[in-house]
Amino acid sequence: MRNEGLRRLMNAIKTGGGEARFVGGCVRDALLGRAVGDVDFACNLSPAKTAEILTKAGLKVVPTGIDHGTITAVVEHKGYEITALRRDVETDGRHAKVVYTDDWQEDAARRDFTFNALYVDADGKIYDYFDGRADLAEGHVRFIGKAQARIKEDVLRILRFFRFHAWFGRGDPDGDGLAACHELAGLIPGLSVERIWREISKLLAAENPLPSWKLMKEQGVLEPFLAEADHLNRLEALLIAEQKYDIATSSLVRLAALLPKDVTSVTTLTQRLKLSNREAEKVQELAGLPDRLHGRLDPVPFRRALYEYGEEPARDAALLLAADEPGVDLEPALAEVAVWERPIFPLQGQDILKLGVPAGPEVGNILRALEEWWAGQDFRPGKAECLGEIARRRNHA
Ligand code: ATP
Ligand code: MG
Repeated sequence: MRNEGLRRLMNAIKTGGGEARFVGGCVRDALLGRAVGDVDFACNLSPAKTAEILTKAGLKVVPTGIDHGTITAVVEHKGYEITALRRDVETDGRHAKVVYTDDWQEDAARRDFTFNALYVDADGKIYDYFDGRADLAEGHVRFIGKAQARIKEDVLRILRFFRFHAWFGRGDPDGDGLAACHELAGLIPGLSVERIWREISKLLAAENPLPSWKLMKEQGVLEPFLAEADHLNRLEALLIAEQKYDIATSSLVRLAALLPKDVTSVTTLTQRLKLSNREAEKVQELAGLPDRLHGRLDPVPFRRALYEYGEEPARDAALLLAADEPGVDLEPALAEVAVWERPIFPLQGQDILKLGVPAGPEVGNILRALEEWWAGQDFRPGKAECLGEIARRRNHA
């Protein structure tokens, strides 16, 4: 988190008469000794002033969110968000009217949870205005202020509550927070689906998202926007398989586990949540793939599945299949994944043309049929054997 470039950034702001402190997730994660994602700063100068100082110091500055007080400084090709200290007034659920302040505690008070309002200055001193460190140590996700009021300011905080509980929570969740989430869950559909999906996706990426998901279901939080993602047993079995085989999948595979297995309802959901094309295709594929792998987990048929579906989809589908059929042994299939190198089909269009087949769709048909045959022979036949097979087929035709 602290390197030469960031020291330069913090020093420049200091020389300019201000102060920048690390804040938010990077402080929280560093205190826990976890990998730090984005590094964000809070700064007691206006965004325009900070931009001016940093530009003078020779840093590139991009006005990424200047309307809500954020600029991005580029240091050694990495972007760092620097947000001016703010007090939020007149929130209407999403757009807080921004009022700048030079009071660090006021800036802390507008943040969501106590352990997300920790700051660290250039000397490594920690500022903890709401006992966030104690809550972090106890695994206690606690709203700053009254949970009800804070959720009404920004309903996304319901999902953030469960997301942070999945990542950092231990034991029972905060009673007031939970009750407020339960009462106000009906407001979730008013959020933009992009914001919803970003939180849900981060929640599902936690090492064990199951307890949080269970809570969301019990508290009626899923009902208004993700009612169909309630196959908790399947998620549980997937997580057991992940543990057993020491493979961490992704949010998308976990979502697929939670959803019904028919492509139509999965497609409706991916459209509703506006998943990217890549994400949507992955979840849709995983709705059907596991059943197609049934009985194909021995090395030879599984190699064929690897060839047909690709390495990651085949592996993920195998784990999902294990979630449906808990007794199944994935060891042989996963051993194939570990050494898999996609074999190259030895024939090309040229080879078929050379046999006198006129250019046209027939070339593709022959190639595809032969590739099927070759894959069915465990990819062993070489070019000569493939050509031999074509000759044999033509003689029989
Ligand atoms: P991560 O980056 O690991 O997902 P984070 O805590 O850094 O987690 P961000 O969404 O990057 O989360 O937000 C950075 C900080 O901004 C948070 O730690 C929190 O202090 C504040 N924050 C973000 N979103 C909200 C919100 N909806 N309400 C109040 N404060 C928020
Ligand atoms: Mg962050």
